[in-house]
Amino acid sequence: MADRRWEIAKSCFPSRLAISQLLSAISSLTGITMTVAPSPAIDWAAVRADFPVLTREVHGKPLIYFDSANTGQKPDAVIATVDDFYRRHNANVSRAVHTLGTEATEAYEGARTKLARFLNVRSDELVLCSGTTFAINLVAYSWALPRLQPGDAIVLTRMEHHANIVPWQLVAQRTGAVIKVAELDELGRLDLDRLYALLTPEVKLLALTHVSNVLGTVNPVREICREARKRGIATLIDGSQAAPHLALDVAAIGCDFYAVTGHKMSGPTGTGALWARREHLEAMPPFIGGGEMIKEVRFEGTVFADGPRRFEAGTPNIAGFAGLGAAVDYLSALGMANIEAREQALLQRFNAALGEVPGLRIFGAAPGKAAVVSFLIEGAHAHDLATLLDLEGVAIRSGHHCAHPLMQHFGVPATCRASLAYYNTFEEIDAFVAALNKVRKLLA
Ligand code: PLP
Repeated sequence: MADRRWEIAKSCFPSRLAISQLLSAISSLTGITMTVAPSPAIDWAAVRADFPVLTREVHGKPLIYFDSANTGQKPDAVIATVDDFYRRHNANVSRAVHTLGTEATEAYEGARTKLARFLNVRSDELVLCSGTTFAINLVAYSWALPRLQPGDAIVLTRMEHHANIVPWQLVAQRTGAVIKVAELDELGRLDLDRLYALLTPEVKLLALTHVSNVLGTVNPVREICREARKRGIATLIDGSQAAPHLALDVAAIGCDFYAVTGHKMSGPTGTGALWARREHLEAMPPFIGGGEMIKEVRFEGTVFADGPRRFEAGTPNIAGFAGLGAAVDYLSALGMANIEAREQALLQRFNAALGEVPGLRIFGAAPGKAAVVSFLIEGAHAHDLATLLDLEGVAIRSGHHCAHPLMQHFGVPATCRASLAYYNTFEEIDAFVAALNKVRKLLA
């Protein structure tokens, strides 16, 4: 009976998260507790088989792809959707009344609807764009630049990606605003008392990452946004590293802006989105002008389109968004709670295995962290380690991870970073640690 109910619910609602949200709304209205039954076990080997690139060899060794924080791998469903778009539906969006034009528009707008549901936001508050970098720049130029004045402040954190630092520096230079930085504790968590002490009346915006791309720290964004809101401070959350790994409910976070990037969510590169509260979207002037973002253009002046389209000038990455729609379907079918649990199990094994590697220094040990592990081995340079690991078929990232201020905090120029995803395996972890021990001895 429970299975039957689940099948019916699944046919009506897009994801278990959406069903949980519906049930929790009914529960709070009726006082009757309702929950979703646990999912049937997922065959993770079958899931992995959906990713063609994971079958290849590198330098004669099976590829171990531990660089998903950099970009995620794509399942067949996404690759086939992009392929099918170009083979059967290719046309521009919103400009043609012919069948292909309608199909292209449906694919593009379908991605907006699916992503909005995935994030639990309204689709008419979701701007589609090329990724988080664009999304944050949009807020910087369209929301912050006209608002900020000399003496105003923007608060960032020590663990931000350059994409959530440099746009604010550019805006600060042009407005006379200043940037203040929230620091970390020894485990790589935000020091919340010190963060809240920074939230003084001249602060107009707090911009922070949901999950650190270097430390894996998951920030308590809901609590932080509540504190900021109490003080009348707007909040922007960089969700690049959260959307691929966590069951998100952006509406419940209570932020003003939330940015995501499709290529880390098993979707195509050049896709992403900015969610903004309606009141902000309505007040924000266009950032980039051109076709598609207007109602009427006269040489005397232009009337701009309403809602997200005002910020979507020009031909978008239509095939990419068709693929992102497929990626969101794929993640939703697996269930983000299942993905999170799978990645936590992988991380537990990874941490235990790394404990056996002599001379290893790990950066970031926040409880509940995501499956991102930055490390160094005594006496070895990060790039040398990553280069030798590549010869073993292992793909990890080495460098500053677009987080110079974090590297400065730790007093190192670079680290290695292994980042796992649901399609990785326990066997890969064992093979990785064996490879790491081998190259460690070579570099000793
Ligand atoms: N923010 C974080 C935390 C990231 O990890 C990344 C990418 O690595 C970005 C922003 C940049 O995102 P995009 O690739 O969409 O420009």
